[in-house]
Amino acid sequence: MEFRQVGLTYPGPPPVDALRPCDLTVRRGEFVAVVGPSGSGKSTFLNIAGLLDAPTTGTYLLDGIDTGTLRDADRTALRGRRIGFVFQSFHLLPQRSALENVTLALVYNGAPRRERAVRAREALEQVGLGHRVDTLPTRLSGGERQRVAVARALVTRPSLLLCDEPTGNLDTANADAVLALLEKLHADGMTVLVITHDPVVAARARRTVTIRDGRMSMSGTAEHEEVR
Ligand code: ADP
Ligand code: MG
Repeated sequence: MEFRQVGLTYPGPPPVDALRPCDLTVRRGEFVAVVGPSGSGKSTFLNIAGLLDAPTTGTYLLDGIDTGTLRDADRTALRGRRIGFVFQSFHLLPQRSALENVTLALVYNGAPRRERAVRAREALEQVGLGHRVDTLPTRLSGGERQRVAVARALVTRPSLLLCDEPTGNLDTANADAVLALLEKLHADGMTVLVITHDPVVAARARRTVTIRDGRMSMSGTAEHEEVR
């Protein structure tokens, strides 16, 4: 994903410069942490990256596609095919099994019906929950619930996994399990962007993006990317 002077100002009144124009390139297979105080613009950044919000200025290229030129329906389709989301609160349907929760993502995604359950089961196996497919979320620990949410994000085979405080509601042991999972996905080649308050999570990422008052800055191993 490539941001060229991408920024977002909420119109207000009063207007809020939630993300000031910034440049950022994230290459395939990177693991990037996004840190910064509350209200600094992290979720704004993630929502733009995930095509949930359109920037008010600048150009955003995803897999080489200039997302600013897309009609709404095409943006939605691109989001559905290329982006997986994991949020702080797991957003699972409580009355549906782990398998059903993951399968539903494929219904919206338009995958052939006969493939859905097979792929959902594979995704749950990938997050280490192959033995819990028929369990309701209410019977799972917080960490297991978040792993179901990760499976739901992965089942559509996205090219970019975006996580907004994925360990924010978890105790240390569960947070560790989710973090280990994100690292495994990264090791397997997934591109992962994770917003976190947790210094342990941030320390594991190869690269850290800091956002303060809507201003982005960079630290960590910056081998290939340019930041201006
Ligand atoms: P963070 O995720 O770092 O806590 P956000 O990206 O959610 O920060 O918010 C950045 C700034 O934009 C904050 O000042 C917040 O109040 C403001 N903001 C977020 N969403 C909206 C909105 N829909 N309308 C107006 N201002 C908003
Ligand atoms: Mg936020």
